[in-house]
Amino acid sequence: MADRLSASASLPSICPDATKRRVAYFFEPSIGDYSYGDEHPMKPNCIVMADNLITHYGLLDSMEVHRPTPASREAITQFHDPDYVNFLASVSPEIVQDYYTHSRNLKRFHVGGRGDCPAFEGVFDFCGASAGGSIGCAAILNLGNADIALNWSSGLHHAKKCEASGFCYVNDIVLGILELLIRT
Ligand SMILES: [Zn+2]
Repeated sequence: MADRLSASASLPSICPDATKRRVAYFFEPSIGDYSYGDEHPMKPNCIVMADNLITHYGLLDSMEVHRPTPASREAITQFHDPDYVNFLASVSPEIVQDYYTHSRNLKRFHVGGRGDCPAFEGVFDFCGASAGGSIGCAAILNLGNADIALNWSSGLHHAKKCEASGFCYVNDIVLGILELLIRT
């Protein structure tokens, strides 16, 4: 992503203090490759469409672009239950096919089937990119290297400590807040 970095990565201020705001933009290019399924309303490809608009409006010249470091199991476990995180890291469409064997965990963690939270291919990597972006935003703010940090893959706030909910598996909001609290 270095070719998309700009030496003058800041936006004109609309604030009374006339200070330019330094904006960090986190984007994982592969995020649009993940699919919840054709019938599912959640479309990760929309994040790529938003990035395309940002790119073609020339807004990247005003921001510092970062590719997120995927959140590790350990990082995700800062909020989520270890049993749930381990399940999420192992679940796949194939496991759902073998429902009889895995039904207990699929029900326990609210993943799979035709519900809100399907066990789509690469679900844990998708969660890692999303949460990694939000943790990265918090970290760069903590370091004082940006005034504003953006992660379009974020906002998956329905995810609970021990189960998925409402299209959300890993709560990047909570993980970002926990990272922000490290500063205090
Ligand atoms: Zn949700």
